[in-house]
Amino acid sequence: MALRAAVIGGGISGLASAWRLAGAGHHVTLFEAEPGLGGLATTFPWRDTHLERFYHCILPSDLALVRIIHELGLSADLLWRPTGMGFMHRGRIHPLNTPMDLLGFAPLPITDRLRLGLLGLRARAECADPRLDDVAIEDWLTARVGARAFRTLWEPLLVAKLGERYRGVPALWLASRMAREKNTEREVKGCLRRGYRSLIDAFESALVRRGVTLRLGARVEAIAREGEAMALRLAGGATESFDLVVATSPLGAFQQMTRGLDLDARWSGLALDYQGVVCGVFVLERPLSPWYWMPVVESGATCQGVVEMSNLTPPERTHGMHVAYLVNYAHRSSDLFALDEDRLLARYRADLERLFPEAARTIVEARAFKAPFVEPLWTLGYSRTSPPASVIPGRLYLASTAQVYPRVNSWNSCCEVVEDMMPRLLAEAGARDGAGIALGAAS
Ligand SMILES: Cc1cc2nc3c(=O)[nH]c(=O)nc-3n(C[C@H](O)[C@H](O)[C@H](O)COP(=O)(O)OP(=O)(O)OC[C@H]3O[C@@H](n4cnc5c(N)ncnc54)[C@H](O)[C@@H]3O)c2cc1C
Repeated sequence: MALRAAVIGGGISGLASAWRLAGAGHHVTLFEAEPGLGGLATTFPWRDTHLERFYHCILPSDLALVRIIHELGLSADLLWRPTGMGFMHRGRIHPLNTPMDLLGFAPLPITDRLRLGLLGLRARAECADPRLDDVAIEDWLTARVGARAFRTLWEPLLVAKLGERYRGVPALWLASRMAREKNTEREVKGCLRRGYRSLIDAFESALVRRGVTLRLGARVEAIAREGEAMALRLAGGATESFDLVVATSPLGAFQQMTRGLDLDARWSGLALDYQGVVCGVFVLERPLSPWYWMPVVESGATCQGVVEMSNLTPPERTHGMHVAYLVNYAHRSSDLFALDEDRLLARYRADLERLFPEAARTIVEARAFKAPFVEPLWTLGYSRTSPPASVIPGRLYLASTAQVYPRVNSWNSCCEVVEDMMPRLLAEAGARDGAGIALGAAS
């Protein structure tokens, strides 16, 4: 029997959940608080196209995501390109892409460089070791590469990715991240030829074709039980009933929505904070560097990293212009987060003028964006407290970034969380209604 299912959230987790639920034959309604779909994948209009608010790349190991891209008919648009990383140290950019680059990394003595070179192999060997869940990242790295290499290279890399709050994060997260990123001989990243707007648009039309009702600008304020059904209270006061609900918002929003449900401590008591992102997007006539990713933590700039998306995406997408993101991973309580768009852009423009003066003279467009809930700040032992997907069996499920650990927070990991949840959801919902919904019904 087809159930009436609600999905809360129209980011990748919500879109993938709605896609799978509708594929299994259910009547799905998706609620998204914002006026458009996409969550962190949303874009802004620029000339005759759309640019991403936040940079994204796809990796060859992102199999769950690539499968959905294929199902949405976008395989021909998936491009793979060699990309690289430059590391800015005391004003000089050091390429760090090959074993030879690492061996030639002059700021460190050769013994440290050799230890750094071995780290990738050790991460791959240790990424499945559950004991790393209880080891702080700094302790794990220092034991393997030494304190000097940690301070010179690894700490800036971690700050560029997580901000100062990297300190409490378990080593398991880093080992898993390194194993994900370095699984090919040469660093290759993927993107969609027409940009990620095409992914969201393809999701939207495919969902509509599968009969999904999309409710945009519809914020869910509370989830309650109503006999056998689940009731959603929307901003504005209306209430709607469903047989089952999948929530995909960040954990804090889920905890707020379910306050009246008296859930046990695995969901209601979990204290998981999130790191936010503040980001300046610049369209320029000249490139900054040949690199996709460049941490600049030690440069004295406001930003901690620079991502040059146009070193991955085809030039025709942006009329031959170059697109660079200046980024800070910052908490929503930080001073940087409080700055308005003009002030943020003034800071980031000053960074560009200092670090890349020639390119800075060719800026044709500048925008700034903030997202308060991006990177879950994993705590030691998180594997033991990660919230299960089945909250009220057959009725309420959670598929969110709070569950991607120890995988990195990515579109692919979100899709994997959904794939992990679906067999259980279908079995429990089927058992509840005696409907015998087939386990393999997800398509
Ligand atoms: C700067 C940056 C760089 C990144 N780089 C990469 C990358 O290179 N590769 C990669 O794969 N990933 C990358 N990511 C991570 C990726 O964006 C996330 O993993 C993914 O988008 C999370 O999707 P989500 O659907 O779980 O959450 P979100 O995208 O946050 O979506 C949640 C949605 O739920 C909605 N919502 C919340 N509460 C409610 C409510 N009460 N009612 C209705 N709707 C609600 C929100 O409005 C939002 O649209 C990056 C992220 C950032 C910010």
